[in-house]
Amino acid sequence: MAAPRASDVLILGGGVIGLSCAYYLLEAGRGVTVIEQGTAGCGSSHGNCGTLTPSHATPLAMPGVIGPALRTLLHPDAPLRIAPRFDPRLWRWLFGFARRCNWNDFRAATRAKAPLLLESRKLIEALVRKESLDCEFEPGGTLYVFRDAAAFEESRWLPRALGEIGMPIDTLDGAAVDAMEPALKPGAVGGYFNPGDAHLRPDRYVGALADLVRAKGGTIAEGARIESIEREDARITRVRTSRGDSRVDFSGRDVVLALGAWSPMLARQLGLRLPIQPGKGYSITYSRPASAPRIPLVLKERSVCVTAWSSGYRLGSTMEFAGYDTSLNRTRLDALRRGAAEYLRDPEGPAIVEEWYGWRPMTPDDLPMLGRAPGIENLVLATGHGMLGVSMSAITGVLVSEVVGGKPPSLDLAPYAVARFQ
Ligand SMILES: Cc1cc2nc3c(=O)[nH]c(=O)nc-3n(C[C@H](O)[C@H](O)[C@H](O)COP(=O)(O)OP(=O)(O)OC[C@H]3O[C@@H](n4cnc5c(N)ncnc54)[C@H](O)[C@@H]3O)c2cc1C
Repeated sequence: MAAPRASDVLILGGGVIGLSCAYYLLEAGRGVTVIEQGTAGCGSSHGNCGTLTPSHATPLAMPGVIGPALRTLLHPDAPLRIAPRFDPRLWRWLFGFARRCNWNDFRAATRAKAPLLLESRKLIEALVRKESLDCEFEPGGTLYVFRDAAAFEESRWLPRALGEIGMPIDTLDGAAVDAMEPALKPGAVGGYFNPGDAHLRPDRYVGALADLVRAKGGTIAEGARIESIEREDARITRVRTSRGDSRVDFSGRDVVLALGAWSPMLARQLGLRLPIQPGKGYSITYSRPASAPRIPLVLKERSVCVTAWSSGYRLGSTMEFAGYDTSLNRTRLDALRRGAAEYLRDPEGPAIVEEWYGWRPMTPDDLPMLGRAPGIENLVLATGHGMLGVSMSAITGVLVSEVVGGKPPSLDLAPYAVARFQ
């Protein structure tokens, strides 16, 4: 067995969150080793829609979502679906989610999510420009499109909720939506536009971040699956991984847990209960169609997100609570295509490049868990970023580097403390 290797900060998980933590820790003068079971960015950070959306500050848990979600037990192609099965952890999670479906919790979560999203949006743009990251970043906004008048009318809570936190979005009538995005079929009844949103190509972004971490002297140990985390009293003393048939032992001073949807499994070894469920989403990536949208779109009634880059085009989304299911469900992929066909003149590109699923690390209140873990003095949590991990990645890296460095955090961490669930 190899001797324990000293590393300043050990980061568990090489997704967009782990890599952002690595970058900002390196910028703060720390050494880092990232441990990743696959290749950097191979998890949920790979095939997502790549939108950076402060306009998504409202949480999933809100009045009126429970009834339709329960009805989806019988609808395998519904945008939000709970797969029927016996899983006490899922049902406990759903209970926590249901408890938060009221306007008070909704407003509190919106207020807590917004600063993470707004700060991160600025930081990512600055990082991309400073380090010349090749990731097709564009500050073009997001357009939410409605084709059903009743659904548009029911959605009026959205501009109201964002207005309450000082993030006004433009409300548009159907003609204005049609004029704004010629790739849409005529017939929109209305929509919303947030000019402050942006987008990038997420697989390129995590690839460029990984290169940057290595160039700045960080180590990324790929193909190293974490098998166990050992703790003596109030400190983590060793993380054991397997790489091929040799064991690699790391002994880090501080440990950052950034394992996305996998976080609860390893946290359990430390006696920590993290209420995170994998919220499975899908995407289909194509070569670019002739008339691709200029602006990222959310096709509201079908919950499909459409992002176009000069290098390609992606339909994504859907949310399925089906445990750690690794199958590529054809019914749900087809729902993306059918949804896009209702709204777009040219809904699919000439060639399919990739069909993909990813597990979003979902918490019941849609807020991440950030900060020191209770009872373990050298563990910092950076997980549970749900539907917006790319959008919140840079501020997460900044906050983690501040916590590890013992500096006052630039945002109040109280709303993101894991203690809210203990
Ligand atoms: C369809 C879809 C669309 C989305 N669209 C957007 C969007 O437009 N904008 C946005 O902001 N967010 C979006 N998201 C959410 C976003 O993808 C996630 O929030 C984000 O990727 C989470 O990052 P992470 O680093 O926490 O997790 P991950 O990227 O999943 O990283 C966790 C890493 O830990 C590694 N790991 C796990 N277990 C072990 C182990 N035992 N040993 C070693 N390594 C391990 C995994 O291999 C993985 O690489 C979307 C997600 C989906 C599914």
